[in-house]
Amino acid sequence: MPKKKEIKTEELFAEYPNLYQSSSKDDIEAAFAFAEEYKAFLDSSKTEREFAANAIASAEELGYKDISDVKKLKAGDKVYTSVKGKGFAAAVIGKRPVAEGFNILGAHIDSPRLDLKPNPIYEDKETVYFKTHYYGGIKKYQWTTIPLAIHGVIYTKGGKMHEICIGEKDTDPVFYITDLLPHLGTEQMSKKGSDLIPAEDLNVVIGGIPLKDDSVKEPYKAAILKLLNKEYKITEKDFVSAEIEIVPATKARDLGFDRAFIAGYGHDDKVCAFPALRALLAQSKPERTCVTFLTDKEEIGSYANSGAQSVLYENFLMEILAKSLGGEDKFNMLTFRKALAGTKMLSTDVTTAYDPKYGSVFEERNTAFMSHGIKLEKYTGSRGKSGSSEATGDFISQITDILASNSIPWQTGELGKIDAGGGGTISCFMAKYGMDVIDCGVPVWSMHAPVEVISKIDLYYLFLAYKAFIENIK
Ligand code: MN
Ligand code: MN
Repeated sequence: MPKKKEIKTEELFAEYPNLYQSSSKDDIEAAFAFAEEYKAFLDSSKTEREFAANAIASAEELGYKDISDVKKLKAGDKVYTSVKGKGFAAAVIGKRPVAEGFNILGAHIDSPRLDLKPNPIYEDKETVYFKTHYYGGIKKYQWTTIPLAIHGVIYTKGGKMHEICIGEKDTDPVFYITDLLPHLGTEQMSKKGSDLIPAEDLNVVIGGIPLKDDSVKEPYKAAILKLLNKEYKITEKDFVSAEIEIVPATKARDLGFDRAFIAGYGHDDKVCAFPALRALLAQSKPERTCVTFLTDKEEIGSYANSGAQSVLYENFLMEILAKSLGGEDKFNMLTFRKALAGTKMLSTDVTTAYDPKYGSVFEERNTAFMSHGIKLEKYTGSRGKSGSSEATGDFISQITDILASNSIPWQTGELGKIDAGGGGTISCFMAKYGMDVIDCGVPVWSMHAPVEVISKIDLYYLFLAYKAFIENIK
């Protein structure tokens, strides 16, 4: 009997190398090229609404049709739906029957920001401000003294929608939240970080030239209202039906002498949403039906009719099944439930990257490192796995096999030390249907700050991982 070859000692150890160190020159070049496309998309997609609109435009360019305009579906057909203009779902029909299940990529396209209060405009000591209500978990002090832009929509009589985007062009004005000068900041600086800037002080400066009319009670505010009315035909009351978001006015920029990283607003979770979209758009006639969900409201619990908990995403899958069976009248609930149970999903959201300055909140053996590739998260949740959707070992091994056979490196870990906190994603809302779902994503520094940081090489390997997953998982 031939002697079995003994495994080398070094092969016994799990190695998770830095991918700039282990990748070829060609791979790094491809990553840098992909990063250029990402930065351009990110700059034009700062809000969920803009991201969804740009996703629809990219899909339509490749022949995707609104699913409501299609009666029947066959292999190779491409469809999408807009989820209230703030979420997006798209699919390419596979060669296998849809009833066998879907291969899904999911990410969210909302990011932390400041929303306007319903009655936002006020004048104080000859300055006009917007009152804001922050959205998602932010460190409030980080949002002062940076240039801000205003994005969103307003509705005038008859429900006519007008888009607003001010602060992005070089010639546009920007907006701003003031902070106290250090010379007088002794008392302020002795406060806890969470109390440094109260939420009610996140007031945005929007003007300072009065109407030259002595009969007007608030001439500064009146001048701004007049300006808004001239430009958009709105009055103060129309802010109640407006959806306006204040975001950093900065563009995504290369970071470092070697340009290894990208500093930009909203990497969470557009750094996952962009490659999830691109991986789907790269499919023409896959084996199984491939789907990408880009959801809204993740930062506040995935609620509302555009969040991952909305049945509108489920309806899209229902419609695909029905139309692939020959029409809406062919729908059968049990067949649909079984299709969901046969579904495989990557729920992709950013994770934190180890930051040596804050080493005390991480457990080094179980944390993601910048530029070490996508992180497979067996489970999320906080303190005793609360709120986690735990992936099965069987499913994880299917994924690691696919990644290995496509030469795609990966890393693993948890968010931070168990007692330090934690967080959840959209995976639990999908797992309840019986589908196999795992969390994964790329490491980020300064998550939820106005400008976050990701690594270009991580972004690129995430795209490759998405493609390998939806093309190969069964
Ligand atoms: Mn996220
Ligand atoms: Mn987040």
